[in-house]
Amino acid sequence: MRIAEIHIYKKEQAIVDGPYVMSTMTLTSLDATIVKIVADNGLIGWGEVTPLGPAYQPQHALGARAALEHLAPFLIGESLLAPRVLLRKMDAWLNGHNYAKAAIDIAVFDLLAKHYSVRVVDLLGGAEQELLPAYFAISKGDADETAKLAIDKADQGYRRLQIKVGGRSVREDIETLHKVYEAVGQRVKLVVDANRGMNASQAIRLSLACRNIPFVFEQPCNTMEEVAAVRSQIVHPVALDESIHDLNDVSRAITMNACDAFGLKLTRVGGLQQMCAIRDLCEARAMPHTCEDSWGGDILAAAILHMAASVKPTQLDCIWTATNYIEESYDPAKPIKVKDGQFALPKGLGLGIEPNENRLGDCVLSFA
Ligand SMILES: [Mg+2]
Repeated sequence: MRIAEIHIYKKEQAIVDGPYVMSTMTLTSLDATIVKIVADNGLIGWGEVTPLGPAYQPQHALGARAALEHLAPFLIGESLLAPRVLLRKMDAWLNGHNYAKAAIDIAVFDLLAKHYSVRVVDLLGGAEQELLPAYFAISKGDADETAKLAIDKADQGYRRLQIKVGGRSVREDIETLHKVYEAVGQRVKLVVDANRGMNASQAIRLSLACRNIPFVFEQPCNTMEEVAAVRSQIVHPVALDESIHDLNDVSRAITMNACDAFGLKLTRVGGLQQMCAIRDLCEARAMPHTCEDSWGGDILAAAILHMAASVKPTQLDCIWTATNYIEESYDPAKPIKVKDGQFALPKGLGLGIEPNENRLGDCVLSFA
């Protein structure tokens, strides 16, 4: 089974109940890139990469499509039965741009699983669970509104909420966290995510002023080194997200004792194979982690669910996909949505979704 065709789609995804507000930016829509690989036996595999705008991380939509445009001519004719070899070849043809390679990797696994008549999770080691716990990320906002939304989400069944902070006065963040905790108490686990938006003194001040509130403090400062430096002066467990781009970053963070947990973005780390290596290292070092991505529609969400289902349940710190923030599903018959705070692992072969090609935006590049 070899790669016969590659088609790349560009899709604008409007954000429901937007804008989505983080410490460093405000977004109303996202630029998604969808990859369709057609094998020489007629099977089709789907991949996706949707960076969260151009300023959240070094990855961005135009970079993804440029990298895919460079890689696609090399990929035509390559075997789909040796995914690790294909990954090494992609590294030889293009240095870096792991987020673009992730879209190929996901499509290759969708194809491989269909070829073997199994689900993607079966190729990742097998499913530990069919229902997967989700968390909800609450945009940065007014303290009372944030507390009200936290109650709504707890009532909807979420057992973990992430509250965005940073990029405003620390006093407002402290007030917001106290109101949220008064509102939901220990009904839910809380994560406080600064998205790199605080300096050391702000992060220390927030943590000490909220010492009675149990939460995990996610990516308080810009770099792994800054986070490692403040860690001994704050009272909350720390998770790294934006600092983790690959397996080596995870290894370095563990060696530096820079954090207690990881927020792992599937495409940022390079796709399913790279995530499996990180999953196994985290399991060996008892480091809990999420499975998520910066954004993306049903294709990426399905890949996240298959990946998450393969994680040892005690190591899995919930899942986040953007599908609840997007109006339109690629597969209207089997949309991936949270129900009672959980995602159901798709049942079908491969990723288990069948995108409607009329819903994928414009086909902007084709290779054969
Ligand atoms: Mg985060």
